Amino acid sequence: MREDLLKEVFLDLEEQQRRNEETEASRRQEIREKHPEIAALMEKREDLIQETMRGILRGETAPEDLPERMEEVSGKIRDSLREKGYPENYLAPVYTCPICRDTGYTGEQVRERCTCITERYQAKLRRAIGLPEDGRETFESFNESLFSAEKLPGAEFSQREVMRIIRKTCETWADTCPAQQPRDLVLSGKSGLGKTFLLHAMAARLITRGQQVLLISAYSFLETARKSYFENDDRLEELIGTPVLMLDDLGSEPLLQNVTIEQLFNLINERQRRNLPTVISTNLNQEELRTRYTERIASRLTDKRNVQFLVLRGSDVRTGRK
Ligand SMILES: [Zn+2]
Repeated sequence: MREDLLKEVFLDLEEQQRRNEETEASRRQEIREKHPEIAALMEKREDLIQETMRGILRGETAPEDLPERMEEVSGKIRDSLREKGYPENYLAPVYTCPICRDTGYTGEQVRERCTCITERYQAKLRRAIGLPEDGRETFESFNESLFSAEKLPGAEFSQREVMRIIRKTCETWADTCPAQQPRDLVLSGKSGLGKTFLLHAMAARLITRGQQVLLISAYSFLETARKSYFENDDRLEELIGTPVLMLDDLGSEPLLQNVTIEQLFNLINERQRRNLPTVISTNLNQEELRTRYTERIASRLTDKRNVQFLVLRGSDVRTGRK
């Protein structure tokens, strides 16, 4: 686990508890102001508790009928709230997690971290590495029926069959990374064929395997590269050294003179030299990669010894356009 993110999670939780208390206080205040008869019942319940506590401190046992008397007052409060159009638990403790009541822990003897902590942590981790927080795009949720079962023009196979193979290849890659061969993966195809989904699914699998991965768009890569170039900082160096880097939508970023080509070559070449895996999705085919990024970049992205180049074909799953 990343300690910095875990720390953030517990700070968020404290903030949540503070907000809960504020909500509880403002609801009590509201009821006291608008509905004195309910406020009177609340006071009665409070008195019962105080009285009992004092008794216990004096060494007396709690009155036997206390639970009934408490329940009677609580019932009256609930009824009155409902009558006035409030939810009956309007004055009950406020919390977002019903398991731990926003304490972050469950269990009395053995304290365990609540699942909500794990969920909050995962959401933060996903955001930190560039994945959508909801985490819905996974190999498990991959729906091949979205892809046409009709044979592709001039081919003996359908888009669905192509996707089935590509999905399997990507999943195996993510399951075996960093030992996979070839080391790099390029997903090439027009937009709407599922490339980004596959990248997200791979990144999600990698983080469940405890692998460090960073997913960025080609556009934000260019931003980083531009700043590194002009401001001479080491942000590009961080990208180069990331254990697994995923670059989404290469070809959609602008071509900046002295920056795009130089820095992209630097990134790819340096990562290959260090044997660090890179996954790239692009709307360009091999020929277009050559034209846009020069031969030396294209040859590094298509070299069979280092790169598995997967071509997605068919129609846009969102619009049906070929
Ligand atoms: Zn919880």
